[in-house]
Amino acid sequence: MVLAENIRRSFGRHEALRGVSLRVEPGEVCCLIGPSGSGKTTMLRCINHLEKIDSGRLWVDGELVGYREHHGRLYELREREVARRRADIGMVFQRFNLFAHMTALENIVEAPIRVRGEKRSAAEERARALLDRVGLGSRCDAYPSQLSGGQQQRVAIARALAMRPKLMLFDEPTSALDPELVGEVLDIMRALAADGMTMVVVTHEMGFAREVADSVVFMDGGQVVESGPPARVLGGPEHERTRSFLSKVL
Ligand code: ATP
Repeated sequence: MVLAENIRRSFGRHEALRGVSLRVEPGEVCCLIGPSGSGKTTMLRCINHLEKIDSGRLWVDGELVGYREHHGRLYELREREVARRRADIGMVFQRFNLFAHMTALENIVEAPIRVRGEKRSAAEERARALLDRVGLGSRCDAYPSQLSGGQQQRVAIARALAMRPKLMLFDEPTSALDPELVGEVLDIMRALAADGMTMVVVTHEMGFAREVADSVVFMDGGQVVESGPPARVLGGPEHERTRSFLSKVL
């Protein structure tokens, strides 16, 4: 579902990604871990083309991200085509980014109606089902300010799912939450993974990574230091840098 080969991305003279490769099969959950500034967010943003890559190749669901290949040459995609492809990828941020002036239901139906051209009645019916799925069936008409952080994040997940994404990207979805609200969001993510959703998750929740991830990728200094099944990377890391990071977060 995601194949990245040797991705590089610099901001001025700072190389945020220095040749990152990764592979996520359909239905798999990949957790990106690593210290602050190691390039995890930049990598996620490259996957849905919010960030341009300087070099390397990146495919999502077999399509080259940001480019069209024709007779062996690459052509940059127009913004419209980029947006079309991005609509197939759900993204959930650390800050919930809900529209404050819209109810939970309105937040969810906005993109399906505007981007996918769905009928309002059908979009609303599905939004109610999605809110039910994230345990908020009774809060359809609540505004974000009337919801807890955990509830807002669950609405944000439902909103992303409303677009029927092939892939879900999560950027530290629980790190802005009060500790007692983290579990309810992780439970929803766990259920989503069990349903077979392909997910790339930047997280500091090592328990979640250990339990849910098919692969864990440890990044440091814009590079993948090591990757593999959670039992190996978290349980018996080979590299000193991984060991030192884990000793601080576990
Ligand atoms: P964190 O856990 O703190 O979010 P991260 O591993 O996600 O860290 P990134 O946010 O990807 O790291 O950042 C990697 C490096 O690139 C950092 O040094 C950051 O300052 C830099 N960087 C990221 N985005 C930009 C930008 N738009 N302009 C300049 N520098 C940037």
